[in-house]
Amino acid sequence: MDKLLSVVIPAFNEEESVENAAGTVAGVLRDAGIPYELVFVDDGSKDGTWEAILRAHERDTRVRGVSFSRNFGKDRAIFAGLSRARGDCVAVMDCDLQHPPEKLPEMYALWQQGFEMVEGVKRDRGEESGFHKLCANAFYAVISKLAKLDMKRSSDFKLMDRKAVDTLLSLSEEEVFFRGLTAFVGFRRAEVEFDVAERMAGVSKWSFKSLARYAVSSVTAFSAAPMQLATVSGVLFALIAVVTGVLFAIVGGEAGGWLVFLAVMGLLALACVLLCLGIIGYYLGRTFRQSLHRPRFIISRECGD
Ligand code: UDP
Ligand code: MG
Repeated sequence: MDKLLSVVIPAFNEEESVENAAGTVAGVLRDAGIPYELVFVDDGSKDGTWEAILRAHERDTRVRGVSFSRNFGKDRAIFAGLSRARGDCVAVMDCDLQHPPEKLPEMYALWQQGFEMVEGVKRDRGEESGFHKLCANAFYAVISKLAKLDMKRSSDFKLMDRKAVDTLLSLSEEEVFFRGLTAFVGFRRAEVEFDVAERMAGVSKWSFKSLARYAVSSVTAFSAAPMQLATVSGVLFALIAVVTGVLFAIVGGEAGGWLVFLAVMGLLALACVLLCLGIIGYYLGRTFRQSLHRPRFIISRECGD
């Protein structure tokens, strides 16, 4: 008897994509003879996403859905889906079908062979601008170095064993970063390459600002190293102060020139102190939010049993 595959699909303002996604994914899995359920998570959409999920459920009772009370973000939506999924293995994919559903049978087969974390890796990054690609590369370089997680080609398109899913759900941090946490938990891994398809309908939900926020939140979730900027800049400015003092004593020269130099260095040091305070404040904020023990998400409606 083949084991159940749950497919978790976060959806934010995807009224145009939901029904097509449900039909396409279910069709692929039915053709491959894989028992499935689809778990849609409406991430506080402002459009008719929830109604589209209800229609998809009416057409196929193996479609289930939960709806958030407001927008909580994709990563939290994924975790809500994982918490509802009943499968022996669980896949996660985007609603706009940029993650090709045709790859699911291949991923499922690898899981059957004993792989516990089957990862979709991007062969190319699809329709992205040069600037976007540059930022993405810089982000992955920083996170690989600081957090020691290799995520260069990684995506949120994954198929995981129940063991990996339960481990992810047992983690207690409120701010979840799916891609990082799946790397963190480990398990036997396999990779399946895919080409990022063009978005089926609608527009990308990511603005430059939200991507930047995502990048900062991801790096700080895995590394406390940015706070050491305070130490590094402290040492640097102490050195500059000593060298300037010695040079002034030995070489001397016009006091005015030295004063300008010292004023510039002073301002630079002040900027550094403020930057470091900001960074430390950011970490303090994370700790503060975690200490409140608020839920990761709030569910307002569910459909399917
Ligand atoms: N998404 C979500 N909550 C959000 C933003 C996005 O659930 O706050 C979902 C979205 O509906 C889609 C997936 O996450 O299924 C990927 O989003 P999008 O296509 O906008 O990102 P991109 O493909 O441009 O990286
Ligand atoms: Mg997309």
